[in-house]
Amino acid sequence: MMAAKFPSKEQLKRKCGWREIPAAGIITRAASALDHKTGSWRAFRPVIDEKKCIQCAFCAAYCPDNAVRFVKGKRTPINLDYCKGCGICAQTCPVKAITMVEEAKFG
Ligand code: SF4
Ligand code: SF4
Repeated sequence: MMAAKFPSKEQLKRKCGWREIPAAGIITRAASALDHKTGSWRAFRPVIDEKKCIQCAFCAAYCPDNAVRFVKGKRTPINLDYCKGCGICAQTCPVKAITMVEEAKFG
């Protein structure tokens, strides 16, 4: 069995994408979600058709990462720094305004 290689303090302090994390896990302080740009996990990106959107807020209510929010009666754009591409927003959108598009298509 291989011994786990834990990240150094310097690696923990530095914000990095998941591919750079040296061990299979994140060791960090409490309430540090904003420190980790989990958008780098994304394989698919939600794309919203603004013409179809009826501002129902379902996507904001169900997004597990708060990457899309509802502010002053309007849906915000998706925060790609934190959107993991889970597709829940696309599944919950009642008018199918959200399409999950392969991240590779955005270069
Ligand atoms: S794909 Fe997932 S994480 Fe991204 S906005 Fe939709 S529900 Fe949130
Ligand atoms: S769930 Fe669909 S219709 Fe509702 S706010 Fe989100 S994108 Fe717009």
